[in-house]
This record gives sequence, C-alpha cells and structure tokens, in this order.
Amino acid sequence: MKIIDGKALALKLRAELKEKIDRSAVKPGLAVVIVGNDPASQIYVRNKIKACGEVGIRSYSYELPASATQKELETLLDSLAVDPSVDGILLQLPLPKSLDAESATAHIPFEKDVDGFSAKNLGLLTLHKERVVACTPLGIMKLLEHEGVTLAGKRAVVLGRSETVGKPMAMLLLNADATVTVCHSKTVGLKEICQSADVLISAVGKAKFVTEDMVKEGAIVIDVGMNRDENGKLCGDVDFEAVKDKTSLITPVPGGVGPMTITMLMYNTYLTKGVKRD
Ligand code: NAP
Repeated sequence: MKIIDGKALALKLRAELKEKIDRSAVKPGLAVVIVGNDPASQIYVRNKIKACGEVGIRSYSYELPASATQKELETLLDSLAVDPSVDGILLQLPLPKSLDAESATAHIPFEKDVDGFSAKNLGLLTLHKERVVACTPLGIMKLLEHEGVTLAGKRAVVLGRSETVGKPMAMLLLNADATVTVCHSKTVGLKEICQSADVLISAVGKAKFVTEDMVKEGAIVIDVGMNRDENGKLCGDVDFEAVKDKTSLITPVPGGVGPMTITMLMYNTYLTKGVKRD
C-alpha cells in the first residue's frame, strides 16, 4: 500500500508552472467572482488567490453580496468577458439559491472558462478533444499518471455524477481506455459494483461512505470527498484507516486530491491565455 502525496506533486507542478510564467512576457490574469458569504467558498477563494500569487498569475477578486441579482452578476461577468487583462474567469460555486448558476456560467466565454464547465469544453472532452478540463478530475488524472498507473483495460468505478467532478472524471477515464461505471444515489447493488473496481473514485460527499467491504484487494482508491467527521475534522468519503491496507494506492484527505485541484486551476489559467492567443 502506498499513500499518494498530492501535496508534494501539486507543489512540484506549481514550481514548474511558475518557471514557465516567469519566462513569459505577459502574466496570465484570473478574475475570481464570489457571491455571498458561504465560509467554505470564502476559504476556497482565498486559497485560489494565494496560489495565483505563488505562481505569478495576476488575480482580480470580485465579491458580490448574497442579495445580488442575476442581472448584476451577469453584467459583471459580461464586463470581465471583454476585459483584455482577464484571461480566465472563475465563478465560485455554489451560488446563493436565488441565483441560476447555469445561466450565469453561460456568460463566461469558452475562451475564458478556466473550470472547463462550459458546454463547449464539456463537448470537447466528450469528443476526446480535451481543451480545458475540470480541475479536480484533471488533477486526479495527473496523480494517476505520476504514480505510473496504466488505465487501459482497468475497471474504473466513479461514485457521483456531478457536472463538476463525477461526469468529467468518468469521461477522462473512458478516454484513457478504462472500462467505466458511474454510480449515483439511485444505483442498485453499489457494494458489488465497487468490489469489481480496479480504480475506485469517490465523489459523493459523505464521511465514511466507502467501507472496507466495498474495496477489492489491491485496488487504487481516490477520495475526492471533503467532509467533516463527528469531531469536526476534515475527512473524505473513504473510511481511510479501515480501507488503506487493502489498497495498492490511496489518496488521503487532506493532502490528496485537494491540493491538485487548485494547481490545475493555475494550469488551466495558463492554458487559457495560450489558447486565446492561438
Ligand atoms: P454533488 O454535486 O453533491 O454530487 C454528489 C454525487 O454523489 C451525486 O451524483 C449523488 O447522486 C451521489 N450520491 C449521493 N448519495 C449517494 C449514494 N448513497 N450512493 C451513490 N451515490 C450517491 O457533489 P460534488 O460537487 O461532485 O462533490 C462531491 C464531494 O467532493 C464533496 O464532498 C465535495 O466537497 C468534494 N469536492 C472536493 C474537491 C477537491 O478538490 N478535493 C473538489 C470538488 C468537490 P445523484 O446525482 O443521484 O444525486
């Protein structure tokens, strides 16, 4: 069993990216938009802006109150869309319930979509012509690649089908020639499906959801979940202590997938600048 050190790889990739950005004449610029005062979202946004500073990306932060209207948010996004100093636009999700995320996201032009959530970027992923890919699944692929995992022919099971994690994750695995099963809240026989997985990726959002009896001996287990346990401590979806010795590779929470997500955001911002100029 090996515990994958996502933090170490994230730092290495960030250092490499910084070198590339240091060499380029014009630094990429990222606009980060947050609406409302959800504490978790505020922490994510702070970390993203800090990471921008570390790799040499210019960042612009826009905070709208929870009372902001759809029109106000979309007017801001429209102005960033035509701002030449902004290469990438990140709209921190979730939005307050009064706002429509799908409609707002449509105001981010595909060329500035650093999250890979636009219909065009999702379509390109489906066509196996990946351009900008959602940060968390992309980070997982980099982790697997770094560990020398060959996905062709492997049975991969993805728990969760969100547009931001589960679906793009499944598509990346499929594009890498894995045989992919996607599970969700209506899946019947979840335990047996998980037991067949050579690679099990959990993005459900429930602490201790993946138990020891769901994991095949020697499986690779990737934990996307970010939850709080009964003591308020950050934990993933996987019952780590019970599961780890059965696996060949496993990501911890914290220190696994999370650090890679922000690094991939930096990478995507760098990419959008290049793509825009093509
Ligand atoms: P989400 O949109 O809430 O999706 C959760 C998925 O889990 C849904 O597809 C849901 O199925 C499925 N699910 C719920 N109960 C289930 C059950 N009993 N059996 C099987 N599937 C079940 O969440 P998300 O945005 O994808 O995020 C998932 C987790 O990853 C959260 O903990 C989030 O905080 C974390 N996350 C971490 C990072 C990171 O960087 N580490 C990034 C993003 C998200 P239905 O579709 O049927 O409802």
